[in-house]
Amino acid sequence: MLRVINPATQDLIAELPEDNAQTLAQKTRTGRSAQREWARTPLSDRLAAVRRFRDLLQSRRESLAATLTSEVGKPIRQSRNELNAMQARIDFFLEHTGEAIEDEVVHLAPGSPSMEERIHFEPLGVVANISAWNYPYFVGSNVYLPALLTGNVVLYKPSEFATLSGLDVAGMLHEVGIPREVFQPIIGAGEIGRALVQEDIDAVCFTGSYATGRKIAEVAAPRLLRVQLELGGKDPAYVCDDVDVPGAAAALVEGSFYNAGQSCCAVERVYVHRRIGKSFIEAFTEAARALVVGDPRDERTDIGPLARRAQLDVLEAQVGDAVTKGARLVLGGKRCSGRGNYFETTVLTNVDHRMALMREESFGPIIGVQEVSDDKEAVALMNDTDYGLTAAVYTPDRARAERILAEVNAGSAYWNCCDRVSPRLPWSGRKHSGLGTTLSVAGIRAFVQPKAWHLRG
Ligand code: NAD
Repeated sequence: MLRVINPATQDLIAELPEDNAQTLAQKTRTGRSAQREWARTPLSDRLAAVRRFRDLLQSRRESLAATLTSEVGKPIRQSRNELNAMQARIDFFLEHTGEAIEDEVVHLAPGSPSMEERIHFEPLGVVANISAWNYPYFVGSNVYLPALLTGNVVLYKPSEFATLSGLDVAGMLHEVGIPREVFQPIIGAGEIGRALVQEDIDAVCFTGSYATGRKIAEVAAPRLLRVQLELGGKDPAYVCDDVDVPGAAAALVEGSFYNAGQSCCAVERVYVHRRIGKSFIEAFTEAARALVVGDPRDERTDIGPLARRAQLDVLEAQVGDAVTKGARLVLGGKRCSGRGNYFETTVLTNVDHRMALMREESFGPIIGVQEVSDDKEAVALMNDTDYGLTAAVYTPDRARAERILAEVNAGSAYWNCCDRVSPRLPWSGRKHSGLGTTLSVAGIRAFVQPKAWHLRG
């Protein structure tokens, strides 16, 4: 049985039957045999089902948000935000799937015989969707919605830390008319994920850590299985010397600590121009100190518990390592007393790249702020990482920001914003942050394969 624990209290909230080798094989088989018929269903029917799913999400928002908060510890306002923002994502897929997979005639030569060259897009087949817990609605739907809309069958394994929300999704998709064989939840932890990748699937789309992503890529490689990986980040933000200090500090506190820092695109390291270093650090620390840490069900809470208890050790080790190497702890620094997985809102200064805090994903409410002498040093430090998901620059000077961001090796570039995802733009990581693209038209095309038709008539 899979035990679902409330991270705010350590109480057991549910025990769920897990999948095993037999049920997994059975689900894969039934999925495989249902796929062709699903692909033949008119696109208009598939779109109508997803539109009903969108409406259901909205009408059940309060109870879905409460479940999400209870199993992940996300503050209730943020759970609601996640569900609200699903509307725009779903609308994007509804509006753009048709055009993304429409046939393209790329050459037409009249005459006798005539010659037509046409590209037709076919679904991949059976897609395994192995997901993370931190934004279970976002990261799952980036895969299963375009995959379903383009005619694929989805075997969806939510994270073991967000299984109740995963089951809510499955229930609603079935309720709106997606056949049970076409969307099947797979329940369990890492072992069942590992087994799923070995099943008769055509693609694996994964959201999670680099360590797991790499294992999946290694298992998939000998089969030349199509792999899409949305992985972690160590996302930098650079604050230039011409910035409005309180405004930038407030924005970066939000970007660093939203969802207790458990976002793939959370700001994980801050560089600030030395000329404004002192005033920025003061403003940043004060804004961080003002965040309310507490019960995630409380409307006033900004920071709830961490979803995974083990991460408390990672954060304490990062703080210890940084302090030993000369960092100055200006706020927080340790786990909170009590039963929940709470960690103090933590800010360290006088940090550098010898410290794990500035190199390894923290995924918690802790941040290092490093002073730099100029833009060149900032660019060098932003690029000194194994990751490449997002990077942000704060300055009123757009040309300066664009110059800096053009030099940074990351999939998303933010000017005067951060920790932001748009359904209209491709979401992709470089280096250890991933492979492939979700969202945007490219993220719909990721679930089809072209067939080249050479037609002589
Ligand atoms: P994780 O790697 O621990 O687990 C992710 C999923 O993989 C879970 O469903 C888990 O059960 C499964 N899994 C574990 N071992 C497996 C194996 N050997 N084979 C197959 N599946 C296996 O990650 P997590 O803790 O759920 O998520 C946090 C990570 O996800 C962070 O690194 C974060 O940055 C990243 N993330 C990235 C994005 C993005 O869009 N790039 C979005 C959200 C989260």
